[in-house]
Amino acid sequence: MRVAGRIVQKVHQRCREICRPGITTREIDDEGYRVFAEAGAKGLFKGYPGPTPFPSNLCISVNEEVVHGIAGDRVIEDGDIVGIDCGVEFDGWCGDAATTIMVGDVKPQTRKLCEVTEHVLAIAIENIRPGRRWSQIARLMQTYAESQGVSVVRDFVGHGIGSTMHEEPKVPNFVSRDLLRNDIELRQGVVLAIEPMCNLGSHEVRTLRDGWTVVTVDRKPSAHYEHTVAVTEDGADVLTDGR
Ligand code: MG
Ligand code: MG
Repeated sequence: MRVAGRIVQKVHQRCREICRPGITTREIDDEGYRVFAEAGAKGLFKGYPGPTPFPSNLCISVNEEVVHGIAGDRVIEDGDIVGIDCGVEFDGWCGDAATTIMVGDVKPQTRKLCEVTEHVLAIAIENIRPGRRWSQIARLMQTYAESQGVSVVRDFVGHGIGSTMHEEPKVPNFVSRDLLRNDIELRQGVVLAIEPMCNLGSHEVRTLRDGWTVVTVDRKPSAHYEHTVAVTEDGADVLTDGR
């Protein structure tokens, strides 16, 4: 899984290099495809079943787009935040990670949203231990996010990952009655895709008529960070950090 994760990180790095004002999301998508295809990996997003098969190689979600943005003619502008989500399979194993790229002169409150969301993911990784329940981790994530004045998206959650991209269990970034009823105890060897999505305004989101793109209801910006993380004997091992 680390090999797949390394390829995903390579895609992120390349996207970071080319994501400048004037580029279209389709050009970013094409370049992402080139990077993982050259490494011999198969993309997991294109053709993913839904209302229509998912049409692009990466999910590229700009500003008020939360997740599942489709690459196309949209031109990146100075001050945009660009979520890049990439999942690949290599040799039968999957890696899935997302990052949010700040392009040029991003408004301070939007910059803070990105930094807080990235830190929410770091808090989860730092606190993973065998024997802990996921609700303990989710509470730390949600409490930190809300203490910083941002909201945690409820409608989308992380997931188990292995030989397929989406496996049990569901991995929420917030505490709910449902989670407390169906809590997960972390065990060594379990691998999770942890992916907090935070909004500058309300946590409410809706899906556009293309059947995929999820946007904030109030159209305020949203940030998304994700890593594929293995639970180890004494903590966590991040499989998508490029090592
Ligand atoms: Mg992902
Ligand atoms: Mg994922």
